[in-house]
Amino acid sequence: MHRFIIVGGGAGGLELTTRLGDRFGITDSKTTPRAQVTLVDRNPTHIWKPLLHEVAAGSMDPFTQELEYAAQALWHGFEFQQGELTALDRANKRITIGALRDEEAGEILRERKLEYDTLVIAIGSTTHYFGVEGVQENAIALDTVGQAELFRKRLIAACM
Ligand SMILES: Cc1cc2nc3c(=O)[nH]c(=O)nc-3n(C[C@H](O)[C@H](O)[C@H](O)COP(=O)(O)OP(=O)(O)OC[C@H]3O[C@@H](n4cnc5c(N)ncnc54)[C@H](O)[C@@H]3O)c2cc1C
Repeated sequence: MHRFIIVGGGAGGLELTTRLGDRFGITDSKTTPRAQVTLVDRNPTHIWKPLLHEVAAGSMDPFTQELEYAAQALWHGFEFQQGELTALDRANKRITIGALRDEEAGEILRERKLEYDTLVIAIGSTTHYFGVEGVQENAIALDTVGQAELFRKRLIAACM
């Protein structure tokens, strides 16, 4: 059976995985899957990034907008593996996903190696500071929920 792995459940990766899962995966107990579709993301949930400025402004609770990858996987016939892509072995068609750690429980998933037939890397981008001195140290990028919440906390503290 063909094995698809999509790394990155952002705007692109989540849409692709969902469509592949709907088309080839298992959505009920009677269907035989035609392919194995696996999504890998470092986070357990997806949020639509254009909403982040509302989280930063404090006008939106991110928990009400996040989509659990595990639930989406169940509804759309794919498998979800949480963890960070740490290595790619193209010769052997294999990726390594780093161990998953929890602040309270410590390591909850060991490092894993997954083999693929087709690999899609959709891990997005990072903030570009265009070499402007001081920006990286003093500005808060707005690319993750954590950064949006940090901005909101600092904004409220400054207003207080
Ligand atoms: C504040 C803000 C507002 C925006 N507004 C708009 C808008 O109005 N209209 C518009 O068209 N676009 C907008 N964009 C841009 C749009 O969000 C991006 O173009 C889009 O999200 C890119 O999709 P992507 O799938 O390439 O990457 P992303 O959506 O960034 O997804 C990347 C995924 O990969 C995961 N990942 C990254 N590295 C790893 C790793 N090593 N291992 C495992 N997982 C990993 C991340 O957790 C993430 O889930 C906005 C972006 C931001 C930040």
